[in-house]
Amino acid sequence: MRSCSLHLRIGACLAVAALAQGVAQTPARQRSVAITLDDGPVVNEMKDLENFQRIAGRLREALVAEKVPATIFINERQLNVPGQREGRVEVLTKWLDAGYDLANHTYSHPSINKVPLWQFEDDLIRGEVIMKSLLEARGRKLEWFRYPFLDSGMTTEVHQAFMDFLEQRHYRVAHVTVDYKDYTFAGVYQRQLRAGKPEVAEKVKQAYLEQVPLGFERAEKASVEVYGYEIPQILLIHCNELNSVSLRDSIGKMRERGYSFVTLDEATKDPAYSRADTFAGSGGSWLDRTARTMGKKIEAPNPRIPAWITELSGPAR
Ligand SMILES: [Zn+2]
Repeated sequence: MRSCSLHLRIGACLAVAALAQGVAQTPARQRSVAITLDDGPVVNEMKDLENFQRIAGRLREALVAEKVPATIFINERQLNVPGQREGRVEVLTKWLDAGYDLANHTYSHPSINKVPLWQFEDDLIRGEVIMKSLLEARGRKLEWFRYPFLDSGMTTEVHQAFMDFLEQRHYRVAHVTVDYKDYTFAGVYQRQLRAGKPEVAEKVKQAYLEQVPLGFERAEKASVEVYGYEIPQILLIHCNELNSVSLRDSIGKMRERGYSFVTLDEATKDPAYSRADTFAGSGGSWLDRTARTMGKKIEAPNPRIPAWITELSGPAR
């Protein structure tokens, strides 16, 4: 009881101090982030159903245990494995039953910059078949789309034509503001683990966790440069084995920076996301794209990937 009342007193003092500070300067906005996972249900697990279910299960359990919302962007091609279809679709059902949102990341993950527009649009439609019916059976709608590789069309004409197509099909584009290239670490982690080198894999995991605050720091600074304040961030990570064993630690690091967790819908209510989406080109976060269309150059550097990780990710790929 004593420690409880002490905590209350400390809390009250902090609140008073915060109020006093607020008089002198504008109170800081509460940091928030929407977590999105791409290449779901599990990237590069087209053979082994057990691995597929284990990795997806751990990702889901991590989010449930941390009580944070997330949107999972699915490539339905990953469900289409003869003899395993039911077991793979079951993973989607479990995401939905746990209260998570599913979204379209195309069927087979092509780049809109590398295939004809009609082919890309066909791939998107093929990518919604299973999810759409699962969502509709629950009275929900398939709402979000994300570009594979974040490529958004090589010309303004293609970009605009595709935006019109998305509008007809009632999709919203899910932008990204935080991207610390988890896939580079994830590829190295998985190869080391499966090559029987768990101690190297563990080091990769630790290096990856060190990248998390650096990725957020870059987005926070870039956000102030572009918008003058920290916007609600949208994190892009992928459905891979590395995140399945480290997501709770990553979320812990976000909490340490003062983040609360919101849905994509909540994050995108900020006016920063209502600017017209006119960017055609390759990759890039919403912050980088907005800066480009404003004619600004972001000074905050992207975090560097440690050289030893880059070396390990190279030759065997
Ligand atoms: Zn992807």
